[in-house]
Amino acid sequence: MINSDLAKFANKKFGQNFLKDESYIDKIIQSMPNNDTLRVVEIGPGLGDLTKVLVQNKNVVAFEIDKRLCEHLSLTFKQEILEKKLLINCGDVLTYWQKGELLNEPYHLIANLPYYIATPIILKALEDTQCQSILVMVQKEVAKKFAANPKEKEFSALSVLASTVGTAKICFEVPPEAFVPQPKVTSAVLMIDKNRSWQSKEFEQFLRHAFAQPRKKLMSNLSSAIDKERVKEVFIKLGIPDNIRPHEITTDDYHKIYLNLKDYFDGK
Ligand code: SAM
Repeated sequence: MINSDLAKFANKKFGQNFLKDESYIDKIIQSMPNNDTLRVVEIGPGLGDLTKVLVQNKNVVAFEIDKRLCEHLSLTFKQEILEKKLLINCGDVLTYWQKGELLNEPYHLIANLPYYIATPIILKALEDTQCQSILVMVQKEVAKKFAANPKEKEFSALSVLASTVGTAKICFEVPPEAFVPQPKVTSAVLMIDKNRSWQSKEFEQFLRHAFAQPRKKLMSNLSSAIDKERVKEVFIKLGIPDNIRPHEITTDDYHKIYLNLKDYFDGK
């Protein structure tokens, strides 16, 4: 299919921006963890440009929501499917995850993610103990939120969650011209190397309060959910200044504050 046909063919509803510049596909492949033989989960293989390179060296389990693309992929990769190098699941990846049917063995996640559900997918992968690493293309602003360090203005609840289970970094940026059709925004490839497990809906709830108004003081954000005197006591105990803003303390500090206020969030 030529590029102008591709642009018409793409379904906006499913966030279809196909990565057509091969130099960026190569850069994604070079950024992959390469010291094991774990299977790769690819979300949204689309027309299969990234998949084609992945199956050369890896065993791939793919999840694609668009039935037209599932048919296209089944024809393109007939041989690889027969040789069991590639398995294509046709449906919404979040449904597979919710049913506990994604992949019940350790795996690496690699994807050019549909932007409309990129954050929920990354959050799912962070809490999935089978997922060992996450290498995904997302909108640049989203990548920054996951990879930011304390004191940077982008440091957010997403940065705290990512650094709770591993280390996050932006590998490189990708301009709109690399895609057909072109998105309106710049993209970035984000790598999260996981080395710990952590699942706590209560901690996520606590972070939602902490970062509810990112430019306000942390103390006042937390006081909207918890008795202010109690928050003050905890800040004094931990030596955290009461005028600190949410992005100015570390992931460790967040865990310490949470441990001291946990009873407020348990069972909520
Ligand atoms: N991997 C291809 C590439 O790099 O050119 C396509 C990437 S495109 C940004 C996102 C892909 O995710 C599309 O193929 C789209 O149909 C698929 N997709 C969107 N929502 C999905 C979902 N909930 N579950 C699985 N696939 C989804």
